[in-house]
This record gives sequence, C-alpha cells and structure tokens, in this order.
Amino acid sequence: MSFKILPISAFKDNYIWLITIEGKKNGIVVDPGDATPVLNALKTKQITLSAILLTHHHGDHTDGVKELLKHYPVPVYGPAHDNIPTVTHLLNDNDQINFPELNLSLRAIDIPGHTRGHIALANDEMLFCGDTLFTGGCGRLFEGTAEQLFTSLNKLAALPDNTAVYCGHEYTQNNLRFAHAVEPNNVDLQQRMITTKELRDANLPTVPSTILLEKKTNPFLRCHVPAVIKAAEQYAGHPLKDAVSVFACLRRWKDSF
Ligand code: ZN
Ligand code: FE
Repeated sequence: MSFKILPISAFKDNYIWLITIEGKKNGIVVDPGDATPVLNALKTKQITLSAILLTHHHGDHTDGVKELLKHYPVPVYGPAHDNIPTVTHLLNDNDQINFPELNLSLRAIDIPGHTRGHIALANDEMLFCGDTLFTGGCGRLFEGTAEQLFTSLNKLAALPDNTAVYCGHEYTQNNLRFAHAVEPNNVDLQQRMITTKELRDANLPTVPSTILLEKKTNPFLRCHVPAVIKAAEQYAGHPLKDAVSVFACLRRWKDSF
C-alpha cells in the first residue's frame, strides 16, 4: 500500500496537505487554513477525515479547523507551545502519533523560529514542515531568534536524503531567485530553476521536494559552503564569524530582496 499525499490549494499560495492511502477511505489534513477547499476535496474523493494536524498557530494554517470539526469531530494534534485553542492533543518534541487506519506513524520535532512553538511532523518518508523549511528557502523569523531557526533547519536537514518535503506554501520560484543571487554558479540550483519553471508554467506544484535537493540548492541549509559564506560576507560588508551569523545575514538579505 502506498500513501497518496495531495495538495489542496488555499488562499493565494497555501498548501493544505491531505494524506490518504490507496484502498482506504480515511484521510488526515495538515494545516487547514480554510475549510471550504478541504470539504470539497474530501467530498470529491469520498474520503472521511480522521484527524487534523497543525504545525503552528498562524491563521493561514489553522483558521479552517473550527468549521471542519463541525463536519468531522476528529482529534486535532498540534504544538504544545503555540497556544492553539482548537488543539485537543498537544505534541512535544519526539512525541509519536499513530494512525493505524492509515498505517501511518509520525513524530513531532520541535522547530522554533518562525513561531515559538512551531513543530514538524515526520517519518522516514515524509516531512510536514509548515513555514519553517520551504522548498528553496525558509520561513521568516517572527517569534524566535536566528540561532533557533538555524538549529531547527539543521534538525530537518539531518533527516534521510530521500524524505519528501511538504511545506505550507508555493514559494519555490521566488526562493530560487534569491538562492541564485547567493550562489549563481551552483549547477544543481540552475537545474532546479529550470524544472521549477516548467512545473509553474504548467500550473503544477513544485512541492514536495526532497531533503537531498534542499541540501544541494537551498542557501539556508548551506551556511557552511564557501561560496555562500562569501556572498553573505559581501552583503554584510564584513567577515562573519560562524555559520549562525551567515544564516542570520542571509535571512536579513532575503527579507529585503
Ligand atoms: Zn506561518
Ligand atoms: Fe503560512
């Protein structure tokens, strides 16, 4: 049996992920910021919702929960430290959750930075990382420090190379434009820009990617690479003492890019 993980588009560029498995009629949604497209997708695919998973408290990831609960009174799993009133099952770092009806187990990973309590949900095959690791980039620092977000991203980068990366937004093209400004000579990045453009021109999602592709092309996971250090130091106008400083500089640079 294999998993089918479908993007449900919401708002301008959000992805709500629907996890299903071939031959079963149950599904789980991740980060339902809007109920309507989720209810439509469940109806069309004749899927019964069995749980809701949340990565962080922002409205574009949580505002659909109340309405979904009216139709499906299911458990809501979410971060222990992000104060989300609709969460029924609080998840701490390393907590394991099991969904036997889908043959699915996921582990919570604390990844603070974008928000204080942001979590990822992962196993060896798939990673749901909300607004922390993006395809080709990373989330903004709203509640945490650069050092926290850097540590969080490194935790995700340590997952197996072929883990599929499901993030919360379609930002790849924009992120890769920045990545290219940092590392114009990165051949893997140049290739990724071509494939990304082809997908977007055909109106197809560029998510998921893989941990391996992110390590090869995402500047925020490459703060130890000489070319990236050099570009960051040029932008900063002075030497940077360590990888965290390189990361903080890239994040500031991207904020005004
Ligand atoms: Zn967010
Ligand atoms: Fe978001």
